[in-house]
Amino acid sequence: PVNEFAFFLRGQARKNLKLLVLYCFFLFLMVMTYAALFTVLMESLEGRHYSFFTGVYWTIITMSTLGYGDYVFSTDPGHIFSALVTLSGVVFMLILLPFGMVSLFLAPWIEQRLRYRPKTQLHTDYSDHVIIFGYDSITRALTRKLISHHTPYVIVTSDQDEAIQLEEEGLHVVFGRPTNVTFLKNIQVANARHVVANLSDPLNTNICLTIRSFCDTPIATMVDEPERTDLLRLAGANRAIPLKRILGSYLASRATTLGAMAHILDAFGKLLIAEMPVKSTPFVGQTLAEAKIRQQTGLAVIGLWERGTFTIPEAGSVLSPLALMVLAGTREQLHALEEITDEKDKTDLVMVLGHGRIGCSAARYLERRSIPFVIIDRTNNLECMDHITVIGDATSRHLLMESGIEDAKGLIVTTNDDSTNIFLTLASRRQRPHMRIVARSNQEENVDQLYAAGADFVISNASVGANILNNVLEGKETIFLTEGIDVFRAPLPSTLVGLSIAESQIRPKTGCSIVALELPESIDPIVSPPPETILVEGMGLILIGSPEEEENFGHKFRKNS
Ligand code: ADP
Ligand code: ZN
Repeated sequence: PVNEFAFFLRGQARKNLKLLVLYCFFLFLMVMTYAALFTVLMESLEGRHYSFFTGVYWTIITMSTLGYGDYVFSTDPGHIFSALVTLSGVVFMLILLPFGMVSLFLAPWIEQRLRYRPKTQLHTDYSDHVIIFGYDSITRALTRKLISHHTPYVIVTSDQDEAIQLEEEGLHVVFGRPTNVTFLKNIQVANARHVVANLSDPLNTNICLTIRSFCDTPIATMVDEPERTDLLRLAGANRAIPLKRILGSYLASRATTLGAMAHILDAFGKLLIAEMPVKSTPFVGQTLAEAKIRQQTGLAVIGLWERGTFTIPEAGSVLSPLALMVLAGTREQLHALEEITDEKDKTDLVMVLGHGRIGCSAARYLERRSIPFVIIDRTNNLECMDHITVIGDATSRHLLMESGIEDAKGLIVTTNDDSTNIFLTLASRRQRPHMRIVARSNQEENVDQLYAAGADFVISNASVGANILNNVLEGKETIFLTEGIDVFRAPLPSTLVGLSIAESQIRPKTGCSIVALELPESIDPIVSPPPETILVEGMGLILIGSPEEEENFGHKFRKNS
């Protein structure tokens, strides 16, 4: 309704609106004049005295042809005057006014509605664009990224209302059936930079097959059921992203308090990136320098998470019991850390609230690492035969107590409703101030509320999805730590061969830090290499930095390498 109203405040409609206001003013003047004449004529012709307001009343009754007859002239000039007033009422109020309303407002508006044809094709020299099928919170976040990078994009929808709405939001939309070859050719799929398929698994499969029948533009597709990844690859997708599974494992890995091996997030060859709660280590309260993690294990602490804030630690950073360390190192180094961490935290119990696909994937992650868990859901998950679910509403305190929340060390809040998630987080935090609470946010705008409700970690479907897609589109091999920080891989620029790390000036010139040096063949990577390390031909760099710093690196070093 707001948008429809806006129509009347734009362009020609706005001018028409002014005309209408003028016309009403004209009518008002006419009524006033007639009312005045009425009192004067009554007085002079018939000797009757009436107030001006009676005049206004009489004029309106007469002009609108209601004619009650409670005030009437009985002389001929009076009759003539009455007839004149009635006639001008008919012409100016009953004919011209409605006619003007319809022709100036209603007709153009209806016409605009009827004439509105969303775009169904793109010009033949349109190229290098990203084509997005399926608009939701994930692709909305992706679109924002594309716009900020000035990457041409187009959103495809087969729903005319959605097309109108997106177009009114100022987005670039085309309307058509995503599995129609002619339509796909008309939107220049063959010249596109990338296709993003974000519909249901069957539709995504169909899109892949259809596009592959005439061109080989790269396709990145989301896949709901992880088992269908191969099927989509077979249908022609270059990347099939099992987002729900990824989200589930992100949630689970951050909810358990068990050792580092349970928290491996990602890997670059032999270099693993893992997260570990400080609470389960003997380092609580120490500074990074005092903890001597590098000296004892060889691991590098490349980041610290605390209540949703990610920082790159310095020697003086204090390891708070609430923090989560992000570690980089080899499997052996992680084992070495496990050896020196506390024994008392070798037990764990995680509650999973919500057994949808994400909850189920979190459960699988815990299962694989032999971490005990309890799942609660209102209904049985028909897709999953493997997990015994406590059936009931997770918002019931009684049910939670009965299921053992008192003994749980971690909690994963993963229903499909953000308000429920916020409520569950808040209630559990009040009851158990020291539990690790990890929550999922379905809409990006609820991330802050979930942190405010007391979550230790919030994972936003939209921003994880958009980040993964964006990295795929940019052909980057990076891992997702948080918005604003990337760990990425780069070949050693030829200009730096033979220099030491200090001489290479990578950090002062770009802001990026070296996490590890990858060596050829099967030698373990050098984690957190000291500044005097010499960079030799064939080494690979693994770096950490913000997206801008990563871009700096590209500009300064990749161009001339
Ligand atoms: P996804 O596949 O993205 O995880 P789903 O919609 O399949 O999303 O899963 C959400 C799950 O959360 C559903 O199984 C639903 O029954 C469950 N759920 C929603 N609200 C509650 C609640 N108040 N208590 C228990 N389970 C809930
Ligand atoms: Zn399951």
